[in-house]
Amino acid sequence: MTAAASPSNSTATDQRALSVLKSVWGYDAFRGVQADIVRTVADGGNALVLMPTGGGKSLCYQVPSLLRPGVGIVVSPLIALMKDQVDALRQVGVRAAFLNSTLSPEGVREVEAALVAGELDLLYVAPERLLLSRTLDLLARAPVALFAIDEAHCVSQWGHDFRPEYGQLGVLPERFPHLPRVALTATADERTREDILHVLGLHGAPQFVSSFDRPNIQYRVANKEGPKTQLLDFIRAEHGAGTGGGDAGIVYCLSRKSVEETAKWLQTQGVDAVPYHAGLSPRERNMAQDRFLNEEGLIVVATVAFGMGIDKPNVRFVAHLDLPKSMEGYYQETGRAGRDGLPSTAWMVYGLSDVVNVKRMLDQSAAPPDVKRVEAAKLDALLTYCEAATCRRQVLLTYFGETLEEPCGNCDVCLSPPRVRDATREAQMALSAAVRTGNRFGSAHLTDVLLGRDTEKVRAMGHHQLPTFGVGRGHDEKTWRGLLRQLVSLGYLAAGEHHGLMATPKSRALLKGETTFQMREEALAPRAERRERSARQGRAPVDAHDRPLFEALRQWRLGRAREQGVPPYVIFTDATLKTIAELRPGSLNTLGSVGGVGGRKLEAYGAEVLEVVRGQAGSRQPSAVSRQPTVAERGTAGNAAVLGVLRGGGQISPAVTTASAIKTAPAEREASPTPLFSPHATGDKPQASSNPEVAATLRELRRELSRETGHSAFVIFPNATLEALAARQPRTLDELRGLPGMGEKRIEAYGERIVDAVLTALDG
Ligand code: ADP
Ligand code: ZN
Repeated sequence: MTAAASPSNSTATDQRALSVLKSVWGYDAFRGVQADIVRTVADGGNALVLMPTGGGKSLCYQVPSLLRPGVGIVVSPLIALMKDQVDALRQVGVRAAFLNSTLSPEGVREVEAALVAGELDLLYVAPERLLLSRTLDLLARAPVALFAIDEAHCVSQWGHDFRPEYGQLGVLPERFPHLPRVALTATADERTREDILHVLGLHGAPQFVSSFDRPNIQYRVANKEGPKTQLLDFIRAEHGAGTGGGDAGIVYCLSRKSVEETAKWLQTQGVDAVPYHAGLSPRERNMAQDRFLNEEGLIVVATVAFGMGIDKPNVRFVAHLDLPKSMEGYYQETGRAGRDGLPSTAWMVYGLSDVVNVKRMLDQSAAPPDVKRVEAAKLDALLTYCEAATCRRQVLLTYFGETLEEPCGNCDVCLSPPRVRDATREAQMALSAAVRTGNRFGSAHLTDVLLGRDTEKVRAMGHHQLPTFGVGRGHDEKTWRGLLRQLVSLGYLAAGEHHGLMATPKSRALLKGETTFQMREEALAPRAERRERSARQGRAPVDAHDRPLFEALRQWRLGRAREQGVPPYVIFTDATLKTIAELRPGSLNTLGSVGGVGGRKLEAYGAEVLEVVRGQAGSRQPSAVSRQPTVAERGTAGNAAVLGVLRGGGQISPAVTTASAIKTAPAEREASPTPLFSPHATGDKPQASSNPEVAATLRELRRELSRETGHSAFVIFPNATLEALAARQPRTLDELRGLPGMGEKRIEAYGERIVDAVLTALDG
């Protein structure tokens, strides 16, 4: 195959790619730019891929590796992840292996022999191993399909993740100029991109950049009031903590001490939580990480040391109890939630003293001035985000150079817009309190002065005689603290020594009345009401109605994972189990239509899954499972036949692939249309305000649209929008306008179908 692909050739490649995607991985469609990347690389071209975490980078090189003759060589610095990745590939019948320092000399020899004999489809290699002349010589003798350079930003000295070995990967274009190279990363700034192109010899190669939006993540930021209790309320109400079926999540704290304390406190509250920070022994850290990967509902309380190389797709929430240092840090950390595309939450609380602390730390750091300036700008961007009264996702994406034209409908600001009011006069009062007390007192003292409190300190300083004394009595302490925090966050006040606040040059115009100050009022709803609201929002990814079956499937999955010594999500992802729980398939045929159930997995687990589904329906006991041999027991030769056919080139109809892959039930597979949705799938919990019939029909419509477009359901429209629709029951396009998340683009794309669905539900 050559780089210049004729149109007809491309079509053929596309068809073969789709057929591999369906038969091996069980997915119906590529996401976004995946299809273009796969075509380019499979046809022998180079590519640079910039995609956010969870975007689906792996398939971009895995599918082309199966389409091209030879083995795909994947260079990755994350040795700890290689075993999981190889396990996951073997589960779908791909012949995968890795070469790194964890292998015994004998293990290395085995893999090398398989490589040269052409018995591998994919080989993961650590960079230091790849650079050995022994390995390079082997590769020169072996049939190689392509080189994929994962975490390609590690070539750049500018980033935090620079790896010297990555800097030497220029050896690849030198020694193997005719083989395609695809570089992949989630870090996209211009300088890094230039370095990647330069080191890997990719100038002129097409660059594929995806949107960095993560629509399934709900961003929320709140004022810190009692952080531990706020956290507990949140994970109990929305992530099932303490119920035995809780979600996995990460809680980030700034210091080791607060990590320890928070973890301990959660444990005393009956929440399954472990600490993780650099002060623990390697053994303790490994244990925490292993438990996190291999158990279902564990919460890790950690410093930022935790996360790099965590590939767990079903992290349902990331909570920040302290402010990250930059927007980049925040986005990277929150990005660990919801790789599987299911609804997830990025939750953060912060308060005035956090803002003062991080600003002061930055100010006092020993870094050179220009580095400090850059870091200060990054922190300011984060603080602006925190104080935003507009859609959080729009602020985030704008920072990363993208535009989101409409508010997202899935962040706290969109869901319950804060009130914004002119607070110029109050801002002037607060600023003048700082100035008149000599720009050296902290927020507590300034608040006392504003409220006219006759404290000992006020008296000792003579501040009761200032004209500002008591001018702020019209507001309560919380309002003043909120205002001071916003003034610090937005740069009108700077944090000096001993927590002292001083007016900055920026405040001059405000003091003179030349500019105005808009204040964001904190959400004022009482706590109980807020909790009820979030419970109503139903953040859990599975409807209450389908929850028992979902849990039963998780239990079954855990058992199978333990037997094989792999993490549960390698067997099936939560997204796949969720669809199964909603669909309640009664046959292998229907089960095979579920995303993530490829030929090999259908063969290995299909019968058992159907038993679990039937068992839950009450007609039979799940103990009657007739167990089939596992993938591991059978070896991995099964799919080789399929791959062999595909590699031979030419057009393969999905039917052919499917038939050879799914040997257990060819007849049933061909048997025709099982209804896509069982009656169960339309069940829904009734809601006070929303019409359950309409909600169920909309949910079904959403699945249909998701299938048609290849977007995950949340991209079509989020739950909050669905519920608003079910409550409002719009009968015309015009009635759709103004509903949360219903911008013009969505109305244009799906409006008519939504109105249709509502009318049908109401008629029926
Ligand atoms: P990244 O490496 O970019 O962080 P992954 O390659 O791990 O992302 O993919 C994230 C998740 O999305 C995985 O669970 C993967 O199976 C799923 N995924 C990727 N592409 C598709 C697709 N075309 N259809 C369905 N699921 C997909
Ligand atoms: Zn929003």
